[in-house]
Amino acid sequence: MIILFIGAQASGKGTQAKIIAKKKALAHICTGDLLRAATGEFRKEIDSYITKGKLVPDELILKLLKERMNQPDCKKGVILDGYPRNLRQAEELEKIEKVGKIFEIYISDETAKRRLMGRWNCKKCGIAYNIVTAPKPKKDGLCDNCSIPLYQRDDDTNEEAIEKRLSIYHEETEPILKKFKERVIKINGEQTIEKITEDILKKLG
Ligand code: AMP
Repeated sequence: MIILFIGAQASGKGTQAKIIAKKKALAHICTGDLLRAATGEFRKEIDSYITKGKLVPDELILKLLKERMNQPDCKKGVILDGYPRNLRQAEELEKIEKVGKIFEIYISDETAKRRLMGRWNCKKCGIAYNIVTAPKPKKDGLCDNCSIPLYQRDDDTNEEAIEKRLSIYHEETEPILKKFKERVIKINGEQTIEKITEDILKKLG
């Protein structure tokens, strides 16, 4: 069974996917992380899309996703964070495995932009902090878990890339929510992290 977390950039879907996957003992797959960690022949090509805020080609992400979903931890169920991003990806996913609940975490574009500017990440454990909203690191610029310096993603600080990512979200990703509307559960992403987790858990059952 696959559960989808869909939302604009910085909606908190990654943070929530991590929390819920841990609580429910599910695998968490973030396709953005899969792409950022990819090595080998596609590295340069992937970077050329990510830095401009464009989607990487469907075939490429699908290949990486299938490889990841074949790993044993995915047998107990998966939370997908960042996939699908367009209707074609949604159709391809349904060929692999049944999609269950779809959580739409919604925020305004203004909130997305404000949060993106404040987002700092840890390269080692993957946690995302936010110095504008929350969670803030205990020590400025350092990861609470790993004590190493945090970094900002290039595509989070480039205004053109941010606009591009948000426009792709509205034009290509939101149609998925329309198509599968009977399975979509709407969650207000402008609340605290704890309240969003509570709302998701209530609906997840
Ligand atoms: P994210 O970490 O979800 O913000 O994704 C960062 C970037 O990775 C996106 O802007 C895309 O360039 C790429 N990406 C992530 N997931 C996908 C996907 N499902 N399909 C195509 N590109 C993706």
